[in-house]
Amino acid sequence: PDSLNLEAIRAQFPILHRQIDGKPLVYLDNAATTQKPVAVIQAITDFYTQCNANVHRGAHQLADEATRRFEQARDTVASFIHAANRNEVIWTSGTTEAINIVAHGMAQRLQPRDEVLVTEMEHHANLVTWQQACLRSGASLKIVPIDDNGALNTEAFSRLLTERTRMVALPHVSNALGTINPIKALTAEAKAKGALVLIDGAQGIAHGAVDVIDIGADFYVFSGHKLFGPTGVGVLWGKAEVLHNWPVWQTGGEMIAEVSYQTATWGELPNRLEAGTPNIAGAIGLAAAIDWFQQLDIKAVQAHERALLAHATKLGQAFAGLQMVGTAPDKIGVFSFLLQGCHPADIGFILDRQGIAIRTGSHCAQPLMQRLGLPGTARASFSVYNTLDEVDALFLALHKTQQMLA
Ligand code: PMP
Repeated sequence: PDSLNLEAIRAQFPILHRQIDGKPLVYLDNAATTQKPVAVIQAITDFYTQCNANVHRGAHQLADEATRRFEQARDTVASFIHAANRNEVIWTSGTTEAINIVAHGMAQRLQPRDEVLVTEMEHHANLVTWQQACLRSGASLKIVPIDDNGALNTEAFSRLLTERTRMVALPHVSNALGTINPIKALTAEAKAKGALVLIDGAQGIAHGAVDVIDIGADFYVFSGHKLFGPTGVGVLWGKAEVLHNWPVWQTGGEMIAEVSYQTATWGELPNRLEAGTPNIAGAIGLAAAIDWFQQLDIKAVQAHERALLAHATKLGQAFAGLQMVGTAPDKIGVFSFLLQGCHPADIGFILDRQGIAIRTGSHCAQPLMQRLGLPGTARASFSVYNTLDEVDALFLALHKTQQMLA
């Protein structure tokens, strides 16, 4: 089923051809950020060399061109995630800012008896933000447990969901464990109770075909840099009927309608939630990344990533002293593990000496690590451009690591 031309794909990522200490780079830290294809680098360069200007306000051709490209990028995102309306796509600096915009507004609406539901597998971005919104408003934060494989306990989810639940915020995919949550079913359940639903799509966006209407949530948020796009740009998608009167986030230029010295009124979507000069080149770069990604056969991408994970899982099971962390039945290519007698940070260090880039630590999920009783893990995370040979290289290097450390 693997119909991707990996050589052709890899050829489009200049960084994959560099060496680390004389060893070919094996980049297995894709859950942290993905590498960028030439098409994205070129789109950003092209913007700055050909049509750099501020958007929405110029009386000159460059400004018109920049505005056109910037707004076209919004169309690209809208059609990529199947948004009903382009005005539902709000540019942010990333997932973190998008969640903050929603939580900031929600904190103004929450009452002391209200409840917010998140899960035990949250990234800090979708935990601390809600925790603080609850602290500010007096609402309670409820945590849906996971099982020891890292799958969400959906029965507990149903139990914890009550008439008091005003907001449900959960990840599409866990960054630390790779677990894919059944977001459509969970969203339907939460909506039936009258809650708003936010899906943290930071890890979901690059691994599946996301259709926000089909999912049915009120908000879906993601970062460009995990989708082969640049850092510093991301998306808050929200249903127009929910977003149109959402409490404004930042104030300033672009987001207003009328301003006097003493008062101001707010503009329409999407501008009312986009104060100040946006990351124009970032948005254009993200659109180029989406165009690039959409040329691939998503089914083949998913099959390839599953094959990489299956290969790593097979080698992991045969590896004495290796414990896999996160073995939910439905998961993406995140291989989190521990090696008996080796601290995760030391594993990362020794792999790096061999050109292999992974991430170690708590993966911005300290409470999850506490729940699992772990000091952290070593995590290899796969993307479309990784090869089975690279997975072999990881395990060869892990054998060396074990000999050195254990
Ligand atoms: N949520 C999840 C599940 C993530 O993996 C990440 C990034 N590691 C974030 C949120 C935060 O994304 P960003 O740092 O790009 O804002």
